[in-house]
Amino acid sequence: MALSALPRNLLRLFLTTVCPGCGGRRRENEYLCPWCRLRTDPCRHVHWSRTGASFNPVSSPGKAGELSSGISIYSAVLYRGLPREIVLRLKFNGEKYLARVAAEMILKNSMALPEVDDVLVPVPAGRKRIRERGYNQSFLIAGALASRMGVRNMNLLSRDDSRSQVGLSVTERRSNVRGVFRLRNHRKVPAGVHIWLIDDVATTCSTMDSASEILLEAGAESVTGLTLTYRKQVAGSIV
Ligand SMILES: [Zn+2]
Repeated sequence: MALSALPRNLLRLFLTTVCPGCGGRRRENEYLCPWCRLRTDPCRHVHWSRTGASFNPVSSPGKAGELSSGISIYSAVLYRGLPREIVLRLKFNGEKYLARVAAEMILKNSMALPEVDDVLVPVPAGRKRIRERGYNQSFLIAGALASRMGVRNMNLLSRDDSRSQVGLSVTERRSNVRGVFRLRNHRKVPAGVHIWLIDDVATTCSTMDSASEILLEAGAESVTGLTLTYRKQVAGSIV
């Protein structure tokens, strides 16, 4: 073995056995250790963007086709345990490499995934938020997912600055994101494509609803939402 290859191989050996969730050991053919897999709960409901209502695609498979407005939103896992940690570390701790873990988590858990001709569109943050954080986690997740699946990822949308959704009621969240999205630099939506809007968290689904309207108005054939996590609402508050 050439001497120069040694550090790279040692690094690979190190990287392939460390669990990105907890820093413990994992098997080479698994992306997480057993403990972190136990802390990951798949989301088994699809949500309707217009109201955030859920339906089970197994017991009512025709439901998605019946919706005359709004889109179906698939979330890979529930916002608790490890996925919650991953979202927070990715968003606030600068651990950008976790986007690859998020993409893997989506591939392993989501009930629906993009097809090869589909296009991913990340849900953008406002300019102020991007300036503060230096990046947008949904772009990182969409990029990692696109390269892992070999599908197109297009940065089509921009977003006006609005109040953070954190701490707002369900009704306030809907009106807060109404009309904040537009096509970025007058970009064109490719004709006849199915678009998957990608984000880290779905809660009331109002952000996805507002973003999907712009894409449909601009000529997208159809739009589906896909998020890493779903954050439940209990009696009107977000948990
Ligand atoms: Zn772990």
